[in-house]
Amino acid sequence: MLPAGFQFSQSTLQDYVDCPRRFQLRYILRQAWPGVRTEPLQQHERHMDRGVQFHRLVQRHQLGIPVEQLERGLDEELAGWWRAYLGFDLLHSMLGRRYPEITLSADLSGARLLAKYDLLVVSPNQGITIFDWKTSLKPLRREFLLKRLQTHVYPYILARSGGGLLGTEISPKQITFCCWNTAAPSEPVIIQYSQEQYQQDESYLSGLLAALRAEVERGPAVWVLTADEHRCRFCEYRSLCGRGEVAGNFEEMDDFGDEIDPSVADFGLVDVEEIGF
Ligand code: SF4
Repeated sequence: MLPAGFQFSQSTLQDYVDCPRRFQLRYILRQAWPGVRTEPLQQHERHMDRGVQFHRLVQRHQLGIPVEQLERGLDEELAGWWRAYLGFDLLHSMLGRRYPEITLSADLSGARLLAKYDLLVVSPNQGITIFDWKTSLKPLRREFLLKRLQTHVYPYILARSGGGLLGTEISPKQITFCCWNTAAPSEPVIIQYSQEQYQQDESYLSGLLAALRAEVERGPAVWVLTADEHRCRFCEYRSLCGRGEVAGNFEEMDDFGDEIDPSVADFGLVDVEEIGF
């Protein structure tokens, strides 16, 4: 069974879509990690730490803390990410109210679905823009992002539940999703949401949640292991699954590296402050 009060997120649903067995091990069996995700471990951990620091810096900057105060003592790599962020004119020239690190939720198919946004900007005449910060090693491809649950869950929940921020209903076509990556700061991926996409997302997410819940109710059998063994190279459970002993090399991590985004790590089991409607 899922732990009491379990709340779904793009991250937990992505685990299920990528590999049902990973979802089962991580969230139902709460299996302790028997392996490391990537080698060298220290390099991976440093990258994760920097990612957390970067998210925190941006959050504080968006809350109005002066740049000079924030940029003291940054290491070289973090300082580079920070300068790139400061040069992100699209964001800094945008007027409107800002909501950094805000969580919204909605009920769907009898489950609670959460989205934790890095930043929402509500512009007077430009609708709402979702900003998401990535610290992936490589530029993110638009086609890849379009397949990710985050690209669908975030605008869907905002359309469902964001009315409380504006005091009026939000139309899906008012929503834009902007994914900005430190590896390609001048090439943010911008995706416009729509009514049609909203309906497709509702249908897809409802079906996914229903399938997942049915699987949970079926009992303790081992869930399906992914057929894409490339995923196993960067999965901490590979020895449990008989999918190899050796961790994938950190620098070879491709788009799947997005899964370690510290802004969403452990999401689903943590306590979060949320706004639900
Ligand atoms: S090692 Fe592979 S099969 Fe096992 S949980 Fe991880 S991704 Fe799934």
